[in-house]
Amino acid sequence: MRNPDDNQIVVLASGNAGKLRELDKVLAPLDVSLQPQAQFNVPDAEETGLSFVENAIIKARAAAQHTGLPAIADDSGIEVDHLNGAPGIYSARYSGAGDEANNVLLLQELREIPEEQRSARFQCVLVYMRHALDPVPLICQGSWEGFILSEPRGENGFGYDPLFYLPDYQCSSAQLAPGIKNRISHRAKASRLLFDALRQH
Ligand code: IMP
Repeated sequence: MRNPDDNQIVVLASGNAGKLRELDKVLAPLDVSLQPQAQFNVPDAEETGLSFVENAIIKARAAAQHTGLPAIADDSGIEVDHLNGAPGIYSARYSGAGDEANNVLLLQELREIPEEQRSARFQCVLVYMRHALDPVPLICQGSWEGFILSEPRGENGFGYDPLFYLPDYQCSSAQLAPGIKNRISHRAKASRLLFDALRQH
């Protein structure tokens, strides 16, 4: 019988406890023990990339380099068609003043734009690197289609969730029960792809 202590430790290049919990749940059937990078005192890497995939690689590489262990990182954000994909990789830093101000700015940028032109999607890229010099990182991407509302709705979730309308559910992603969001979101899709890729790995 396998000893759980034999599990491969993989560092998660994120300080977000929710992401750790979610990903840990998805990867549970694999012999992997996912540990947050804070446990190894990995400093936050500067996100200097110009795409989600570049930023995810920068973060995973930094964590792998610092720890000598395999690492997973994610990068995510929201892409609004009318704004040519903005805020995109700058989603967290859009207004420079946090989630609520980001939502106010997005509403302002889209004022008077009719419903049908407010299409948007959340994007999530997850990267797994076996080591810091891994020339073929595993790259998994999930997206989630919706529309930007003209005012916030709902209390769940975080970030742009109160503005993200899901036609299939006729509510915002902040009005979904967390269990449902965690099954259908961009992050859930990317996590399942990563699970499949690691299982074959
Ligand atoms: P990060 O990848 O954790 O840096 O997230 C980037 C930013 O994208 C977050 O700060 C949010 O503004 C936004 N974002 C990413 N995923 C979600 C989501 O599931 N709901 C709402 N906002 C999100």
